[in-house]
Amino acid sequence: MVEVHVKVRVCDKCRDVKRPIRSYTLTEGERVVERDLCEEHARPIEEAMAGESSILPQAPADVVTPKVAAGKAPAKKATARQRRGPTKTLTVEEIEALKRT
Ligand SMILES: [Zn+2]
Repeated sequence: MVEVHVKVRVCDKCRDVKRPIRSYTLTEGERVVERDLCEEHARPIEEAMAGESSILPQAPADVVTPKVAAGKAPAKKATARQRRGPTKTLTVEEIEALKRT
């Protein structure tokens, strides 16, 4: 008796061996995701890839990130200021003590 093992790559979603699959490598920042998908389940990816030029205008998603970061920065500054506040009210003795350390 001969055992034959056949490896068949199937769609990650439906795992239907009858459906031809395509391999996709998706990258997002440092994330790399490999997917084998049939035509049906690859559709969202194909649609995204088909709209290459329309993805660029969507790039504001990237622009949003710095905006979010910029939004956070002032908040941090405000916190820093609040933290610095009490430091300024140090007494001369306290300042002298700090200088000695
Ligand atoms: Zn599928």
